[in-house]
Amino acid sequence: MNYKSTRNSEIRYSASQAIYQGISKDGGLFVPTELPQFKGELENFAKLNYMDRAKSIFKLYLNDFTEEEIADCAEKAYDYKKFDGDCPAKLNMLENSFSVLELWHGPTCAFKDMALQILPHLLSYSLKKSGKGKEAIILVATSGDTGKAALEGFKDVEGTRIMVFYPENGVSPMQLRQMNTQEGENVTVCAVKGNFDDCQTQVKIIFTNNEIGDLLDENNMVFSSANSINWGRLLPQIIYYFSAYADLYNAGRIKSLDEKVNFVVPTGNFGNILAAFYAKQMGLPVNKLICASNANNVLTEFINSGTYNKDREFYTTTSPSMDILVSSNLERLLYHICGENSEKLTEWMTSLNTNGNYTVDAKTADIVKDLFYASSCNDEETIQTIAKEFTEKSYLCDTHTAVAVKAYYDYVEKTGDKTETVIVSTASPYKFAGDVLKAVTDDIPEDEFECLNVLENASKMKVPTQIKELQSKEPRFNNVVDKDTISNFVLGSLGVK
Ligand SMILES: *Cc1c(COP(=O)(O)O)cnc(C)c1O
Repeated sequence: MNYKSTRNSEIRYSASQAIYQGISKDGGLFVPTELPQFKGELENFAKLNYMDRAKSIFKLYLNDFTEEEIADCAEKAYDYKKFDGDCPAKLNMLENSFSVLELWHGPTCAFKDMALQILPHLLSYSLKKSGKGKEAIILVATSGDTGKAALEGFKDVEGTRIMVFYPENGVSPMQLRQMNTQEGENVTVCAVKGNFDDCQTQVKIIFTNNEIGDLLDENNMVFSSANSINWGRLLPQIIYYFSAYADLYNAGRIKSLDEKVNFVVPTGNFGNILAAFYAKQMGLPVNKLICASNANNVLTEFINSGTYNKDREFYTTTSPSMDILVSSNLERLLYHICGENSEKLTEWMTSLNTNGNYTVDAKTADIVKDLFYASSCNDEETIQTIAKEFTEKSYLCDTHTAVAVKAYYDYVEKTGDKTETVIVSTASPYKFAGDVLKAVTDDIPEDEFECLNVLENASKMKVPTQIKELQSKEPRFNNVVDKDTISNFVLGSLGVK
């Protein structure tokens, strides 16, 4: 099994090439040429621990990695010390209700750890195989969460260096502290005088600048990406859908390995829910994939109408990691369901760039509707949902997860479906303590660390140590640059000027 680009079905790539390049030169995304069938393996898979479950799925996709290399990556990533126990994807089966797949027990308390803890190791091996042993320079523009998760993942990983740029006044005090106290010899954090778009635009310019590229090449370095369109970030996410299903089976919540389940996923760039689609295509018994959005409801509209329109107001919400108008990974889904027709797909994507929208053909739209149910909610409903779950079930969820819970209630009301359901939970409530607290009390402290204490007292759920200890850690970085001088800063830090 190997890989091809969504914009050109002819050329073949190995797994290490796909991971090391990140995005195809024709602008397309890498996809597997075929999806391995896994249904027959479920019985055995269910008997394994998470580490071995992960290895058994990686083996199917990492065609030019040895078993030892795969084991090495998985063991470095899913170390029980990093994930608060030996199962990084904990399934919390609420009584007489849905289950919650808690993907936030890792180092930064958000689901991005699930992929960003392993991607650096996959990349490190990929560079040895396909990248002539060059050192990978990872540039990340971040509005908060991704930056920290990438820093934690890449810190001290052999053959890599990471630099994170964030808008000087555009991240929360907690996110700022998470980033500028980052440990590791190969990490740099830098504030930019500008907004997130300025950071993103400058990073892209540096990435594609040939002169800078040549300069790096002379120094045996190469830019690489930790972006969520990298196949190396999607693949690790397939595992926990199988794992959650196996846990439901082991617990007797589903009676046979044919019984279908629903997954509800709070969605931004469409990466997490796309991994669920891949799991379904591999034979996992899935009924509906429920796509939950916040007020930025571009995906809800697309799934219901077949028209994707990014020309709309952008809302800053209490679930900031889902504040997205262009969901890049949707391209992969459309490629697979439109009959792997690169020409048709390229037309849609070109139209998105030039006209701000596209409409898929009726057949593709029908397949989308059959696979997915979509729903969105605003901030007020998000907070109300947190309050409802906390009062009725004593379960405290974060703002992103609450958007998913609300979408599930909409779905049940509309369809009456009683299928066993898993809500994918993407962040610890403590990561967004200020907003979560609104659901619990009217008396909200100004200071974010004080919010943690109030929330802990109210919920009786302990603040994760990695958040608690931030308060006493000394900041290591105080770099600030103008947006036009990012490239100088990058070259200067690398010592290649
Ligand atoms: C990134 C993120 C999401 C959205 O995931 P996608 O893969 O981009 O759809 C949801 N919740 C949280 C907390 C996130 O960090």
